[in-house]
Amino acid sequence: MSGTMTDDRTPAAPGEPGACAAVIVAAGRGVRAGGDVPKQYARIGGEPVLRRTVGVFAAHPAISAIVAVIHPDDETLARQSVGAEAVRFVPGGASRQESVYNGLKILDKMDPEFVLVHDAARPFVTAKIVSRCLDEAQRHGAAIVGVPMTDTVKQTDDSGTVTGTVARDRLWRAQTPQAFRYRNLVAAHEAAAGEALTDDAAVAEAAGLTVAVSPGSEDNFKITTAGDLARADRMARALAGPRITVVGHGFDVHRFGPGDHVVLCGVKIGHFQGLEGHSDADAALHALTDAVLGAIGEGDIGRHFPDSDPQWRGAASDRFLRHALGLVADAGGRLINLDLTVICERPKLAPHHDAMKRKLCDLTGLPPARIGLKATTTEKLGFTGRGEGIAAQAAVSIDLPDTV
Ligand code: MG
Repeated sequence: MSGTMTDDRTPAAPGEPGACAAVIVAAGRGVRAGGDVPKQYARIGGEPVLRRTVGVFAAHPAISAIVAVIHPDDETLARQSVGAEAVRFVPGGASRQESVYNGLKILDKMDPEFVLVHDAARPFVTAKIVSRCLDEAQRHGAAIVGVPMTDTVKQTDDSGTVTGTVARDRLWRAQTPQAFRYRNLVAAHEAAAGEALTDDAAVAEAAGLTVAVSPGSEDNFKITTAGDLARADRMARALAGPRITVVGHGFDVHRFGPGDHVVLCGVKIGHFQGLEGHSDADAALHALTDAVLGAIGEGDIGRHFPDSDPQWRGAASDRFLRHALGLVADAGGRLINLDLTVICERPKLAPHHDAMKRKLCDLTGLPPARIGLKATTTEKLGFTGRGEGIAAQAAVSIDLPDTV
């Protein structure tokens, strides 16, 4: 490859107000994913990863130019991969940061108002994610896409012994795209030259810029390992074919026993009794998990987490739900909505409704409008009426590839 590798297929739009360009970072050689070509050129659902990623930006109405930063040895592969899309190719540098800077510099003449930087290895970015990120950048000057940290985070000493638990409620896993005022990001990169910062938000932060976070998606993962590549292939195939909506229903009961609280929808609720059960006895999440498993023909919670297995003793039930939702994702599916009813005389659930609903939003990734959460009594009739236990019913609908 010679010169700057630019070509003029992309119409530049110099000085156009509000113009936005995208820099796709594809310079890595990604050997961890296996295969004989770097992961951004591997095929998922029959299509190179890079083409799929570029296609999302090419189709987005706000984006008027696309630059792909590639390894100097990969130009032929890169051109073949993107096919007919109008993309300028730029050689990458020694680090990610240097590669992005090379991509930014090629846009100097166009001088877009905003630039989006995106990893080529995140092919499941959507137009919606791009739009949200750009909206936030327009409001705050810079924005990244991220997902809230849901795992408990531990800190260790040098020997690997836990020294503390990090509060996670303000922790995010950063994804791309990341959007910036073009001139600000160029200046920030020039100020940070020679460092090895791992994303552009870090470059912007170092320059003192305000960076907002907009919601990303678990599907917007970065292909790193061979397992990621296989998952991406399954997802791409699933997205390409016909789809159906399936529904599932779940029902669960736990009896009251000694204790001072119950757990419902993952929320601890003070009560003069507890619920008996092998796990945390969260009947609401158990019913929901069974609904999800039922919808995809995956049996029930007992099959996946037998109560004869001591490792589930006292377990927080969100892990059961996460497992079930993981099976949905693996099948290329997506939860559309859920409707959950908790049945008991006491405790009164109204004061806890909002916390429970928030927890369901966190666990499922659904917006509030797609979550029904209700509580009812049975008018003092039956076992729930007599205060012997709590029952829960759940229904879900799931969007699934029609592969059967
Ligand atoms: Mg149960």
